[in-house]
Amino acid sequence: MDAARHHVVVVGAGFGGLELTRALGGLPVRITMIDKRNHHLFQPLLYQVATTSLATSEIAWPIRHLLRKRKDVTTILGNVTGIDRAGKRVLLDDGSAIAYDTLVLATGARHAYFGHDEWEPFAPGLKTLEDATMIRRRILLAFEQAEKETDPARRQALLTLAIVGGGPTGVELAGTIVELAHETLRGEFRNIDTRQARVVLIEAGDRILANFAPELSDYARKALERLGVSVELGRAVTRVDTEGVVFGDTYLPARTILWAAGVAASPAAEWLGASADRAGRVLVEPDLTVPGNAEIFVIGDTAHMSRPDGRPVPGVAPAAKQAGRHVAATIRARLAGDSRPRPFRYRHDGDLATIGKRAAAIDFGWIRLTGWVAWWLWGIAHIYFLIGFRNRLAVSLSWLWIYATGQRSARLITQGESDKG
Ligand SMILES: Cc1cc2nc3c(=O)[nH]c(=O)nc-3n(C[C@H](O)[C@H](O)[C@H](O)COP(=O)(O)OP(=O)(O)OC[C@H]3O[C@@H](n4cnc5c(N)ncnc54)[C@H](O)[C@@H]3O)c2cc1C
Repeated sequence: MDAARHHVVVVGAGFGGLELTRALGGLPVRITMIDKRNHHLFQPLLYQVATTSLATSEIAWPIRHLLRKRKDVTTILGNVTGIDRAGKRVLLDDGSAIAYDTLVLATGARHAYFGHDEWEPFAPGLKTLEDATMIRRRILLAFEQAEKETDPARRQALLTLAIVGGGPTGVELAGTIVELAHETLRGEFRNIDTRQARVVLIEAGDRILANFAPELSDYARKALERLGVSVELGRAVTRVDTEGVVFGDTYLPARTILWAAGVAASPAAEWLGASADRAGRVLVEPDLTVPGNAEIFVIGDTAHMSRPDGRPVPGVAPAAKQAGRHVAATIRARLAGDSRPRPFRYRHDGDLATIGKRAAAIDFGWIRLTGWVAWWLWGIAHIYFLIGFRNRLAVSLSWLWIYATGQRSARLITQGESDKG
């Protein structure tokens, strides 16, 4: 590759970074893609790995393989820890540095505990494949331990699973876990009846799926309750420990607690010394550049991108992808000599969430769908966005199997404490 070419460094091969790289194809640039993981992760289906429906390799792909045909792209496995704005260099944790002409930060977000990071060991969140397999292990181990437990109170605590946060991820986790307990695991244990398992969804606001129309929130709550989930609204969690969770004046003994509330951006704002919002997202200009540095863009979940009316752009995959395409178009224009700022315009296509394997809620704004029609639409949309024919086929088959038999095949307890030593 011609070293004299304009060098675009992209940090993060998530939805935003990958779409940007795709859209830069054919331009006279050389691209370096840096990610601290070797795979691109389809986060919308992560909860299905955590709840034993899908295997890890069905929702993640090696970045190097995805970009193998792009001779203009060099892929680097590396953890970015800083940006030298004056020297125009990206700093990695191994002490090396990579120079750029244009830099795009697309480093995403993680879950946040509203100032209670000490809750994380007791209530893991869902963001990476490691999180998903750890949650899967905890759920399955709770049933294994309950099978051996003779004390009724301790056994019920083992059979109580609490999910904190009633957004799409919390709703999807709750619906699938209750089906796992009541349907998939049923009849496989001798000392416990897995249908006695309690799944409790705790939401501080007055409705779940707060971004959806109120009637869809209502529909989702009733659909979850029909499946057997207890939905607790209007009380915030104030304590989490190894024995259970406190919300309002209720103490719920629960040995498995999952966190699906709140996100915090990657430390991109700290690397840049830039202003950030409360969630740590970089406050970017309307054209997604960092104030004072037109050659640095920040996109996706780690940026505070605004709509024309001032409302923030939501942290969803389509927003990151649209931002990636927008920045690619800006780079294309600049290379052609047009350096005018081009404001980003986000187009919201809708909100989707599934409730178990037979219902979903879809809010397109102009039309709202529920029930099995919505579930099928949700499924088709997700299959469409997966990468590669093999994965689409594998996921479709897994879903058809679960739909027809209730059986989930990815029920492996791996990487537990007992594996050590
Ligand atoms: C459980 C879950 C379910 C979701 N469901 C949906 C859904 O149904 N629909 C929807 O639209 N959105 C959903 N989202 C949100 C969606 O996944 C995000 O909005 C989207 O991934 C944001 O894209 P991004 O490119 O900004 O960041 P990401 O896709 O998160 O990518 C960030 C990349 O940066 C890399 N990175 C981070 N830090 C560093 C570093 N220091 N050095 C190098 N690399 C780094 C990461 O490894 C990662 O590959 C969900 C998210 C989660 C967690």
